[in-house]
Amino acid sequence: MSRLFGDHYLNKLTADEQKLIARLRSLCDSDIGPNAAKVGGEDVFAWDTFRLLADNGIIASAFPRAYGGAGSRQAVRIRIIEELGRVCSAAASMVTGADLSARAIVAGASDKLQASLVPRLASGDIQAAFGLTEPGAGSDVRSLKTTMERAGDDYIINGEKKFITRAGTADWLVIVGRATDDRSKFIAMLVPRDTEGVTISPTTGKLGWYGVPIASIHLENARVPANHRLGQEGDGFSLAQDALVRARIGHAAMALGRAIGAVEIAAAYACDRDLFGKPLGGHQGVQWMFAEMATQIEAARALVALAAEKYDDNDPDGPIYASMAKLHATDLGMKVVTDALQLTGGRGYLKDFPLERFFRDAKLNQIGEGSSEVHKTLIGRDLIRRTPGAERHPCLNQGPVTDY
Ligand SMILES: Cc1cc2nc3c(=O)[nH]c(=O)nc-3n(C[C@H](O)[C@H](O)[C@H](O)COP(=O)(O)OP(=O)(O)OC[C@H]3O[C@@H](n4cnc5c(N)ncnc54)[C@H](O)[C@@H]3O)c2cc1C
Repeated sequence: MSRLFGDHYLNKLTADEQKLIARLRSLCDSDIGPNAAKVGGEDVFAWDTFRLLADNGIIASAFPRAYGGAGSRQAVRIRIIEELGRVCSAAASMVTGADLSARAIVAGASDKLQASLVPRLASGDIQAAFGLTEPGAGSDVRSLKTTMERAGDDYIINGEKKFITRAGTADWLVIVGRATDDRSKFIAMLVPRDTEGVTISPTTGKLGWYGVPIASIHLENARVPANHRLGQEGDGFSLAQDALVRARIGHAAMALGRAIGAVEIAAAYACDRDLFGKPLGGHQGVQWMFAEMATQIEAARALVALAAEKYDDNDPDGPIYASMAKLHATDLGMKVVTDALQLTGGRGYLKDFPLERFFRDAKLNQIGEGSSEVHKTLIGRDLIRRTPGAERHPCLNQGPVTDY
């Protein structure tokens, strides 16, 4: 049987990539989908889901082939994440989070560290967490205060990281801070979780995304060998940005997957539920709601696919398209889940109905990896910056536009 939303993007993948998606779909049908309510019921790390994804090579998609990964293109990763987002946010987050937390290791660790860690990250034997956000530095990430002081062959790290996904289960912590001798230099360090002076808080309670808990990380005079630095001093910000751009495409794909799932669930209800003498879905107002949702989801899928393509092609516009994809798909995802829940009436509001979980999960995609407002700022600023050098509109007179 065909799905409500077309498989058109799968046709563009290689035979091996299509096989991977087919395997994932079957896992979603047999395990991840049926277990999603249980995972979404308690905010403890969903080890069974993680192991299933790792054992089936899905976690490996984030890692390079040279170190045991699958080296998947973003064009494939968005399909994987969309499939998972359709049924279980925690599962999708494990795939996006494996990438976010380890990307700076893949991009900046020494060959020796990579050879020892990346194969184990790819197989899911170990995990990393990505510690960028601080109590005083979220959207305004350049104001972070964590310090890294060079002391002989080590760095001494002091600071506080907040909202860190998987801090409670990660073996390695990627911590971003700034040099004490030159505050303009950001540094990313790879910190073993059992380092003296590192304290992980208990799980912080949250609204949704159960199955992937968050916690705070306190670093007090934590001494870490200098050869655990990722890249050079001053590379910390660009390493973090690289990880965030990929994660933004992932957030967009996850939000779209969830939106697709929400429409499928609401449409099933609209067919089964009779109201005023005909199925709910027979009412024109309801059909128009479905028309809006389906059309906007397909438009957003095209934008996310474009952002993935630009990233894969190393296009300098890739980060801006990642911002556009994240902004559009996550705002749309929230709207679609809200409308789908509305369409299912009181049942949509029940704990054991999947849309209750979808609704709670949708909000974070608009906040994490840069909130919608941050992306609007990035996109708008980029457009204005490019305008003076861009081709002038042919309907305009020569000279300043203020001369009209
Ligand atoms: C569940 C969860 C998991 C997370 N996981 C991680 C993780 O693994 N690693 C990590 O480092 N961080 C993580 N974060 C942190 C997340 O990235 C931040 O919460 C996010 O970047 C927003 O920062 P903030 O919460 O400090 O909000 P603030 O910076 O205080 O912003 C508040 C709000 O202000 C608005 N805003 C911001 N800038 C502007 C502007 N210029 N104009 C208008 N409005 C604006 C936005 O709506 C924003 O949401 C996680 C957060 C959550 C909730």
